Amino acid sequence: MHEISLCQSILKIIEQQAAQQNFSCVKTVFLEVGRLAGVEPDALRFGFDAVMKGSMVEGARLEIIDVSGLAVCLRCNNRVDMKQRFDACPACGDIPLLIEKGEELRVKELEVE
Ligand SMILES: [Zn+2]
Repeated sequence: MHEISLCQSILKIIEQQAAQQNFSCVKTVFLEVGRLAGVEPDALRFGFDAVMKGSMVEGARLEIIDVSGLAVCLRCNNRVDMKQRFDACPACGDIPLLIEKGEELRVKELEVE
């Protein structure tokens, strides 16, 4: 499952930060997830608990911050709010659109002890 490998990279990022900033226990992980990132929040939560087991992040709460999608239509330059990937431009109906926002998946903040 795609979300498992995502959680494994999240764990790596957290462990690197822990080494740099000297913390040993994570209470909450604030994760920005773009609507166009192709990630299923439920699957992500499930993967998170499974992957973090036995690590310093075990038992931490996962806070998913929803980032909406924004894209520019290359044909008419219209700015489009995208609910999902491959939405067509409402003005001209063209696809693809140049995505500006909504593909991110990143650890925004950690609450640590
Ligand atoms: Zn357009």
